[in-house]
Amino acid sequence: MAPSLRQDGKELGKKHNLKVKLTIHAALKKGDCKVETDRRGRRLALVAHCVLNQNSRVFGLAERASMIGEVVRVLMRNGVGVIQMPCPELVYAGLSRAPKTREQYDNLRFRSLCRKIAEQLAEQISEYERNEIRLKVVIGVDGSPSCGVNENPGILVEELRLALDKVGVSAPFYGVNYRRLKDDAHKLDELVK
Ligand code: SF4
Repeated sequence: MAPSLRQDGKELGKKHNLKVKLTIHAALKKGDCKVETDRRGRRLALVAHCVLNQNSRVFGLAERASMIGEVVRVLMRNGVGVIQMPCPELVYAGLSRAPKTREQYDNLRFRSLCRKIAEQLAEQISEYERNEIRLKVVIGVDGSPSCGVNENPGILVEELRLALDKVGVSAPFYGVNYRRLKDDAHKLDELVK
């Protein structure tokens, strides 16, 4: 039976995709990474989980229904891709956890969980950096026992600084504060420009 027009179209589409893939592969092999079809911005941010998913916060503490738009818009405007860090408190204590202080979280089990998360993130970042995709900023949440940046740095943030240092990557850390998000957006804009 003769192939239908739809099948012909599918075949042509497959051939075209294969041609594009082969062109990219050949260009990459030659060391030419500026393939015209590739529009990536080559810039990254590591972002605290709850900035992109308020559902992860302790019950009673979510500030928004979903994401913190002020931060997300800055990253989008500046062509910065996002790696959402896991929420260590959610992994460790679940969603119905009670709010705790940094001292209460600073035990062996929680710290080794944060270290593991930090090392995995640092490995990913170092692969991006090897391919000239740069980490522009790490965005934490001030006041958090895990993700705080200023004053009383959180445990995940501490471990992440060490892990990034080990793989030779340096980037500014910025702690957002839910009480002054407009200011944060201006400062982040300057930082990732
Ligand atoms: S641990 Fe970090 S990611 Fe999780 S809710 Fe607290 S600030 Fe957000």
